Amino acid sequence: MKNAMRLRDKMTFWYTALTFVITAAFCAALYFITSYVLEGILEREVRLSMEQVIAQIENENGMLTFENEVPVSSTSMFFVTEENGSELASYGEDITVFDHVPVEENVFRKVKGETGEWLLLDSELVHVDHFTLRVRVAASYALHHQVLSALRILFLIGVPLMTLIALGGGFAIAKHSLLPIRKIINSAEIISQGDLSERIPAAYAKDELGELTDTLNLMLANVEAAFVREKRFTSDASHELRTPVAVMRAYTESLISEPGLTADQQDSLQTILAECTRMQKIISQLLTITRGQEGRYPICIETIRLDTICESIADAMMEQLTSKDMCFECAVPHDFTMEADQSLITQMLLNLVENAVKYGKHSGKILLTAVKDGGQNVITLRDNGAGIPKEALPHIFDRFYRADTSRDRSGTGLGLSIVQWIVQEHGGRIHVESEIGTGTTFSVFIPAAFAPADRSIGSY
Ligand code: ADP
Repeated sequence: MKNAMRLRDKMTFWYTALTFVITAAFCAALYFITSYVLEGILEREVRLSMEQVIAQIENENGMLTFENEVPVSSTSMFFVTEENGSELASYGEDITVFDHVPVEENVFRKVKGETGEWLLLDSELVHVDHFTLRVRVAASYALHHQVLSALRILFLIGVPLMTLIALGGGFAIAKHSLLPIRKIINSAEIISQGDLSERIPAAYAKDELGELTDTLNLMLANVEAAFVREKRFTSDASHELRTPVAVMRAYTESLISEPGLTADQQDSLQTILAECTRMQKIISQLLTITRGQEGRYPICIETIRLDTICESIADAMMEQLTSKDMCFECAVPHDFTMEADQSLITQMLLNLVENAVKYGKHSGKILLTAVKDGGQNVITLRDNGAGIPKEALPHIFDRFYRADTSRDRSGTGLGLSIVQWIVQEHGGRIHVESEIGTGTTFSVFIPAAFAPADRSIGSY
């Protein structure tokens, strides 16, 4: 996965984000509800104090007194004034701070004093005998603020902590839940590399992922069976066709040498003979491929000399090279050895050189080189022929694929499939670079420490 965010990270992100939003919303709601409730309590407290004070004022021989001891604390205060505003009594520590605040009957107001905020309430005019009075009560917000500031601290620590826990927990849950999917991906990667016998480990049989695993395994078993059937069919069909084509070819060859044939008849028989030869080539190539895929092709790894193979190829191709006036240069160092199957490597180089001649231009050049590079044998075949169109490059190793069928009738579209199979059998890889009109370069990389490829019947 390149730039895209992984599912595990997405799940962790959304889980953490959701936990953060829910926790923050819950804390904010709790904060505002607490503030609202505390405000209500304070208002009730102020109203109650006001009622208590008013109820206790009495006229004792023309003097205003209180029936009982007036309850005064550091968090509340009250004043009794005459109608004109002149003060009759005041109780509390910081009583002068509200002098400048105008009277507003029965309206709660938040006022800033020297020792913090206060909730202020003025009563309506009260009549005690011939006295007309007004009572003003104030209660401090100190406790209210203490509770809210404690809540704020709790939330400032709690929300990030919850988010961190959600991040860790979410990551662990996502990782654990996606573990079976990782196993499925790993198995699918092995299968995509060619091993159809691979199965996904069925460790989660009870849940949806278990069902998915079972279904995929069943599908793989069916695909493998179909694939094996298809390979057997190709192999059996090729085998069965070998004899009839050989018979057809033998009869055609004997007919051509019969005296008294017209020129047209000669031409027709030549065409049949050419097609028989082509069909024999296809059949033999198909047999090589299917036997190789079924692991029935005998492979013998030994120390081989590439320079001598190169010479034998030059000899084998002499006729075709001469007919096109082409030059084949073999720049393989003397005594160049490698661990490989002699006949397969010969076949591989022969296919590549045949193509270079077939698609090469008249008087063209073919260069074969080999070097040892970081634990690999690198064999390169370069020609200055027609080149391969860019859009055809990804397909040239496919069976029966031919980039330009009009260029050569003798091709089968199987040569490069065989080359690729041989390279894979030697644990290597093949790379092609080509430009129309300039030429083509095939590079084969074969590990010096040879690791045989998996030749099980499930491989493709
Ligand atoms: P074919 O029998 O048609 O040559 P191959 O499998 O050997 O089949 O090659 C597949 C196709 O790749 C060919 O049809 C041809 O179009 C292209 N090709 C292979 N080698 C060369 C080359 N050296 N130069 C140009 N085209 C090539």
